[in-house]
Amino acid sequence: VIRTPDGVAIGVDVGGTKILGLALDHEQKILARALVSTPHPAAPDGGVALAGSIAELVGELDDLVGAGAPVGIGLPGLVRDGSTLVFAPNLQSAQGADFASLLAGPLGGRPVTASNDADFAVIAEHRAGAGRGHDDVVMITLGTGIGGGIVVGGALVRGGGFAGEVGHMVLDVNGPPCPCGARGCWERFASGSGLGRIAREAALAGRLTALVALLGGDPEAVRGEDVTAAAAVGDPESLLILEEVGWWLARGIANLVCVLDPTCVVLGGGMAEAADLLLVPAQHHLGGLLEAPTRRPAVTLVGARFGADAGAVGAAIAARELM
Ligand SMILES: [Zn+2]
Repeated sequence: VIRTPDGVAIGVDVGGTKILGLALDHEQKILARALVSTPHPAAPDGGVALAGSIAELVGELDDLVGAGAPVGIGLPGLVRDGSTLVFAPNLQSAQGADFASLLAGPLGGRPVTASNDADFAVIAEHRAGAGRGHDDVVMITLGTGIGGGIVVGGALVRGGGFAGEVGHMVLDVNGPPCPCGARGCWERFASGSGLGRIAREAALAGRLTALVALLGGDPEAVRGEDVTAAAAVGDPESLLILEEVGWWLARGIANLVCVLDPTCVVLGGGMAEAADLLLVPAQHHLGGLLEAPTRRPAVTLVGARFGADAGAVGAAIAARELM
């Protein structure tokens, strides 16, 4: 039997199609990495199936670094008591599953903790990434929607388990409808789908001419990633769209600053490439949207350090902190 060296921890991040597992040493260096497929979301008894896949993944990492390291699990939904997935729109068959109980036997009784994936992402960035050295950090994950994680005074803010759902902060009560049932949520404007919507509206209004021509002349065919790609090679009309989305990003960040007054806001998520292009316009607009901008500590906007690994890295750090 290989003994796990002190300080090694395992982080697991459950995504829509793949589950990523990382084994980290005490300095957050990645010692080993493994991937398994996520069970089909419609699989019956999805919680049991998902726990089985997680146990298989941890077993692969155990073979590489030794058995017994504590395990943190990032889940795409709302998690109670560090264990139970209470709400997961994209993983409904696993709703209600208590992962600490399901995994107690298969993982040999080692410490197991679960949380929302964005909560773990902010822990990674605060403890060891772009937010290091700041006491108050907000992380915003830009993907199809907007997720968030909040650290205040060095500690994760969980609330009743639902804290940090910043994407559904309403910025325009008359705005476009959101799948959550409200109108004008922040993620309708500043996420990947928001970028796509704003770009298509612009194209239908006769803007984005070069990009529309490149896509065969159909303004409805414009997607967010097309705008990002065109902006990355300097298309001026696409850069203007990102400038507009950057304003919406800054508008929501300014609201969060009113409430939390962080000194650091970390941008991450699957839209990372666009996030880089949004960082400069958002930082530029933010100055003009804050109360008393010259009399308060600067709010630094930075790109995430850990990229797609953030959820798993933070899960491992949180698991180690439990020891
Ligand atoms: Zn919403």
